[in-house]
Amino acid sequence: MAAITVTTESLPRIAPPRQGRSAGQIFNFIGIVLIHIGAAVAIWRGPTLKLVGLAVGLYFIRMWAITAVYHRYFSHRTYKTSRVMQLLLAILGTTATQKGPLWWASTHRIHHKHSDTERDVHSPLRRGFWYSHMGWWMGRDHEKTDLAQIPDLAGYPELRWVDRWHVLSPLALIAALAFFGGYDVFLWGYAVSTCLLMHGTFTINSLSHVYGSRRFATTDTSRNNFLLAIITLGEGWHNNHHHYQSSANQGFYWWEVDVSYYILKGMEKLGLVWDVRAAPEHIKRRNLIAEVGERSPLLIKTAPDSTPAPVAVPEPDAG
Ligand SMILES: [Zn+2]
Ligand SMILES: [Zn+2]
Repeated sequence: MAAITVTTESLPRIAPPRQGRSAGQIFNFIGIVLIHIGAAVAIWRGPTLKLVGLAVGLYFIRMWAITAVYHRYFSHRTYKTSRVMQLLLAILGTTATQKGPLWWASTHRIHHKHSDTERDVHSPLRRGFWYSHMGWWMGRDHEKTDLAQIPDLAGYPELRWVDRWHVLSPLALIAALAFFGGYDVFLWGYAVSTCLLMHGTFTINSLSHVYGSRRFATTDTSRNNFLLAIITLGEGWHNNHHHYQSSANQGFYWWEVDVSYYILKGMEKLGLVWDVRAAPEHIKRRNLIAEVGERSPLLIKTAPDSTPAPVAVPEPDAG
């Protein structure tokens, strides 16, 4: 595994186009503000062990739904399941409050098609931290589900319905927590948990193309990052993932912790999912930076003559 350092100050930043606001955008903005206020009120009122356990539990389940379902199933089709299970998993994913599965998959496929180019939906090196973390998600540029990106999914009317009415699951979760548990259960079970879940997931867009090490000479700036892999149940092995998107595992070795994959393997044993694809050995040995050098244009880009050139410094193999 090779770690590199790079100077990015000289890269052009693209100003997001300014457009009018839409009802959906205003709804999202108010919702996100309320989630943050709710999380602050929850902390101010004070935690109990049970409330923290509830928040962590709902974070875990819904992070898994984002990583193993929205990402590894709907976006990349790295395993198979039944149509009923597909629908149930889609509904579970919507409880994460990150819009619908088809919207998520369509924007994510654009990210892979145009990673770190001007057409990428969330490149931190092009548009900065906040745009790649939340701005792209809240703005109008990528508000609609682009069905052209997901022809394999668009033909399922039930998925189209879940995608359109993705807001129903979070509202049902909120109602259930408040009704059965009361005010603090709602605050910790939804507001705290969802706030952490939101920012935890968004770090993959904002940080995993900036901080970490690179093993594979992908043409984007993706990194492998242990800490991000822990908080996202395995998504932090982002350079591995950009190198090979067709596998359900993103951690390629035993020390690359990938909880989402472990759970998928357990579900495979139970017969709930099947054909769970893992990265083949020859893929793990191909296109290594240690052998072929850096190939990301943004990381080997030379600066203007008046300033020192960004330097990519390979370090000794750490893996
Ligand atoms: Zn992906
Ligand atoms: Zn990426």
